[in-house]
Formats: sequence, C-alpha cells, structure tokens
Amino acid sequence: MTFKCPICKKEVPPGAPDFPFCSERCRIIDLGNWASEKYKVSVPGAPEPSREDDE
Ligand SMILES: [Zn+2]
Repeated sequence: MTFKCPICKKEVPPGAPDFPFCSERCRIIDLGNWASEKYKVSVPGAPEPSREDDE
C-alpha cells in the first residue's frame, strides 16, 4: 500500500518521518496553504502568496 504526498503527489514510503508528506518541505508548504495569512513561513522554492507584515 502506498501513500502519495498531498503536495507533490510523490509516493511516500511507510514510516517516513514527515508522513503523510514526502518531506519536511511539503509539510511546511501544506501548513502555509492554510496558515499563510497568520504565520510567516519561509520555504525556499515554495510559491508564496502576497505577504503582509502588519499583523
Ligand atoms: Zn511532497
């Protein structure tokens, strides 16, 4: 049975440290998808929505 990373659709091996993501990077990107307005997450290479620094 395989699981696919919800971010990049790459197969994630069972027991991966960042399961269900393939890597910490994808885990952080997923966080950023819903929290980008609240948390400043800097991920090299990740698409960044417009940043606002007044909160
Ligand atoms: Zn991934």
